[in-house]
Amino acid sequence: MPTKSDVLIIGGGPVGLSCAYYLLKSGRKVTLLDAKEIGKGSGSGNAGHIVPSHIIPLAAPGVMASALKWMLDPAHSPFGMKVSLDPNYLSWLLKFVLACSGANVQRSINPLNDLGQLSAKNFAQIIAEEKFDCSYQEKGLLFLYKTEQAFRDGQHEGEFMQKHGIPVSVYDKANVHEIEPAALEGVIGGVHFTGDAHLNPAVFLKLLSGRVRAMGAEMLENTPVTEFETANGKIFKVRTSGGDFEAEQVVLAAGALTPSVARDLKLNIPIQPARGYSMTMSATKTMPSHALILGERKIAVSPVDGLLRFTGRLEVGNYSMIPNPVWIQRIENSAREYLHLDEKLDVKETWAGLRPTTPDGVPIIGRSPKHSNLILATGHAMLGLSLGPGTGQVVAELVNGREPAFSLSLMRLERF
Ligand SMILES: Cc1cc2nc3c(=O)[nH]c(=O)nc-3n(C[C@H](O)[C@H](O)[C@H](O)COP(=O)(O)OP(=O)(O)OC[C@H]3O[C@@H](n4cnc5c(N)ncnc54)[C@H](O)[C@@H]3O)c2cc1C
Repeated sequence: MPTKSDVLIIGGGPVGLSCAYYLLKSGRKVTLLDAKEIGKGSGSGNAGHIVPSHIIPLAAPGVMASALKWMLDPAHSPFGMKVSLDPNYLSWLLKFVLACSGANVQRSINPLNDLGQLSAKNFAQIIAEEKFDCSYQEKGLLFLYKTEQAFRDGQHEGEFMQKHGIPVSVYDKANVHEIEPAALEGVIGGVHFTGDAHLNPAVFLKLLSGRVRAMGAEMLENTPVTEFETANGKIFKVRTSGGDFEAEQVVLAAGALTPSVARDLKLNIPIQPARGYSMTMSATKTMPSHALILGERKIAVSPVDGLLRFTGRLEVGNYSMIPNPVWIQRIENSAREYLHLDEKLDVKETWAGLRPTTPDGVPIIGRSPKHSNLILATGHAMLGLSLGPGTGQVVAELVNGREPAFSLSLMRLERF
């Protein structure tokens, strides 16, 4: 006999777990399936930045020019691409190149801003209500710059975001060293997005997963969804290696693997993995006091729980989750250009994860165009943790037939 539930969620990353939390809060009976370990996929080793300030999509004017420039300096490039003739990959690349426009930025700002603000509010609420001890700190995100040109560009970006309601402070050299003593002498300025926050992502996901289980969700690990049984535009059965499942509604939140899960549903979901790496080490003598972005090198820095994490690199098209030691070393070298670090770092963990990336840099959230009982919640790229709780709320609203907190029209799959 198939297992029956109200709502079946495929994927137990930050997005699937957040959906489960809000659905349970709304009184739904939830089953959550993960192909591997819940909360351990691409969300656990990330930077843990909660960034409602990130309202400019990845696909923006100048990105292609920067990518070409970085290719001339491969040892420092924050960006890489797989070489492949796979038609899905080539079609994604073409869509991405076409989306690198001012029009795409204008179109994307409101949905990213709406989802980012809702998520930030929900994070603060979940952490307070559930008493999650996950090193959550509302200290903003500080960009550090070493060159005049990058500092100027950072200030322009800050002014642009300020016009959209994002709080920003700009610091000259003296001020940036005063607020961030871990910065080396070569840092000449900073731009501080003061409404951002950071936390320990692995701890947050563990606590959220525990809470979801305690609220009554049935949660199964090592249970990959392999096929679906459909009729008349409706999913009747979800097949897994561990048996069949039936549900009134299905939420697909399988991160970078969403396209392969959706293939059996004849849904073409334009998502590519954008692999990135992190290294986590014991505290150094002079710990940064903020979550940071090292501007020119695009490295994220997160001080949490007496540990220090660096993350970086965006490699489009690669599904392997094995960290590349060459890039881990390069990330450390780049961090040493900006920060006081001990000569020898005590590395605790190296990690790789996949950002589920759409060509226009906006997530896909909404009902499937082909299935009346399927909701898609995916494609959050570099913001899946940050945008999780807002996504969870609007998915619960869709499932319950309520008007979502804001219009999802620009997030629907049909835009591609
Ligand atoms: C280096 C790096 C740094 C990052 N830093 C940040 C940051 O600071 N802030 C931020 O917001 N985001 C950050 N991100 C992005 C963030 O980690 C992702 O956006 C996020 O993990 C996506 O969440 P998700 O739930 O959609 O997918 P995932 O986290 O990938 O979870 C999807 C889950 O679905 C499961 N699954 C896959 N296939 C199946 C199947 N067939 N059946 C059942 N289950 C399946 C997987 O096992 C997985 O557990 C970073 C990413 C990287 C790589």
